[in-house]
Amino acid sequence: MRPALPRERIRLACDRLGLPVDERALHKFDAYATLLAEGRQTQNLTSIVAPIDVADKLFIDSLTAMVGLAARPLHGARFIDVGTGAGFPGVPLAVVLPYVGMTLLDATERKARWVDEAVRHAGIENAWAMTGRAETVGHHPGWRGQFDVATARAVAPLSVLAELLLPLVRPGGVAIALKTWTAVEAEMPSTEAALAMLGGVVARVTRIPEDVLPNRAVVTMVRTGDVSVDYPRRPGMPARYPLGSSAQPRA
Ligand code: SAH
Repeated sequence: MRPALPRERIRLACDRLGLPVDERALHKFDAYATLLAEGRQTQNLTSIVAPIDVADKLFIDSLTAMVGLAARPLHGARFIDVGTGAGFPGVPLAVVLPYVGMTLLDATERKARWVDEAVRHAGIENAWAMTGRAETVGHHPGWRGQFDVATARAVAPLSVLAELLLPLVRPGGVAIALKTWTAVEAEMPSTEAALAMLGGVVARVTRIPEDVLPNRAVVTMVRTGDVSVDYPRRPGMPARYPLGSSAQPRA
């Protein structure tokens, strides 16, 4: 059968980014991309269809999160991907990091169910999907502060992501946001203000080389201390009244 993805393109991009990718990983990417293409016929999972776009905008883009994790010990680490949608960036990360546990969270039950089944079909054993909102699970004792790494892509502005992700990670844990460079420049001032309220800092902003992916960046935030139990605020509030912007009720 024809591979669903241009493998050489993924291999080259990973080489350029200094990221590990082997035959086993490429095979699993292919299996997942095939399920995604099949799922698209019955479910509205992603608008990205052409194989090159699927490779670039879904798989390679997801893997760029690794640049925010350089030099961190990851064996046995617990990851959560918030607003995973059809499984990005969480699924490609789980494939290249088979020694971490990846929780894939989405507010939409239909998506979480599809992803949970797809990772099982693709033989990705270290990932599982759950239905839920970050604002809710961020207060649950089994989830709050329980993760080493939280990721998100295409879910919310950076300051909103800070409120959704930081309560889920332990002190010293990281939140990684995949963004356009344009958005990072625009959103950084409110994000720094939001992080000051939440107990976190921006540790690093990495711009991805233009010839690998145009206008993409990885923002790494670190939780530096206790996050007040006021955060995250109730569902919908973080997005409606982003921390760090003017006029936001606290509760
Ligand atoms: N990360 C994926 C999907 C982006 S679409 C990708 O990059 O392709 C945004 C997804 O986030 C949607 O599936 C939506 O259901 C989910 N979402 C939005 N707000 C959320 C929240 N507060 N908690 C959990 N999931 C959320």
